[in-house]
Amino acid sequence: MARFYAVNEANPAILSGKAIAIIGYGNQGRSQAINLRRAGHRVIVGNVEDQSFRQAKGDGFEALAIDAAAAHADVILLLLPDEIAPELYRRDVAPHLRTGKTLVFASGYNITYKFIMPPRESDVVLVAPRMIGQGVLDLPARGEGFPVLVGVSQDFSGRALATALAIARGIGAFLPHGAVVESSFEEETLVDLFSEHTWAGAMLFLLDRAFKLLVEAGVSQEVALLELYASGELGEIGRAMATLGMWNQLKLHSHTSQFGQLTYGGEFIGADADALMQKAIDEIRDGTFAKRWAAEQAAGSPLFHRLLNERLSSPVAAAEQELFTRLGRR
Ligand code: NDP
Repeated sequence: MARFYAVNEANPAILSGKAIAIIGYGNQGRSQAINLRRAGHRVIVGNVEDQSFRQAKGDGFEALAIDAAAAHADVILLLLPDEIAPELYRRDVAPHLRTGKTLVFASGYNITYKFIMPPRESDVVLVAPRMIGQGVLDLPARGEGFPVLVGVSQDFSGRALATALAIARGIGAFLPHGAVVESSFEEETLVDLFSEHTWAGAMLFLLDRAFKLLVEAGVSQEVALLELYASGELGEIGRAMATLGMWNQLKLHSHTSQFGQLTYGGEFIGADADALMQKAIDEIRDGTFAKRWAAEQAAGSPLFHRLLNERLSSPVAAAEQELFTRLGRR
């Protein structure tokens, strides 16, 4: 069973007198920086000199070039997109990783696949919110926490876990409704990629296909979109799953709906589904996906851009444009 850490296991004092650098003032970076400062920690920001850099200054932070922030800090939160991080790490962060510094990741990817290999004299920890950046900012502002996965990959100082727990506390994860859960870089990478490679992607393609079939069956595009997801009901169902339970939330639907979902839903899960999910697990674990994605990026991401452009110019996207304009959403 996963261990849930208690708030009294997280001692903020371990960070006292230490400078915490937020490298990358983006979705996660801005939220975590603001929360850590509110918790009383000394936070500096490292970013390229652009709009985000100016925003950090506007928010009252000392903003520096990435290498200067890494040089000044004792604890370095690398909050860059995973595909960008290795190059910036090698150029601007690695030269400043002397003994006693802690490198904190919000995703297991680059350590799991060794795209980043920190020197053994540094501590390397995972503090991975299961929450989008806006939630990391908004929830603690109203006194609520969010789940965070914590792990340690290098513990040179003997205090790596304590540092990770103090960071988790500083960003607000221990507040009510939050949770700080023991995990690892490898486990976080597996579950994160698994969702993306299975149900999350499958759901989008299934909705896309459902739209096509409904329209072919004579349903108006507007009614099809509102039914499938544009009403926002899907988001409400997701919220109910997280609070009432995945199957228990069915009680919020009519009996007709429940009977229909329970009898037809399972028919979509044939032997293929298990085989495809197992294949996803295998290709995450053996690095097949990571190698394919790295090769794709090295080639300038032609397949990625082609696939994205195909979806963005699909009939469902065109129909959305019209509906959203009509609803005043765009
Ligand atoms: P963002 O996409 O918001 O980018 C973060 C920062 O990276 C931005 O400040 C951006 O600067 C900077 N950046 C991007 N490209 C470059 C570049 N080429 N050179 C220099 N700086 C660059 O990242 P996220 O906050 O979404 O993700 C950060 C980490 O958090 C990742 O490890 C991610 O996996 C993890 N994470 C993200 C979650 C999320 O919901 N977004 C949830 C949980 C974990 P600028 O804006 O100036 O371009």
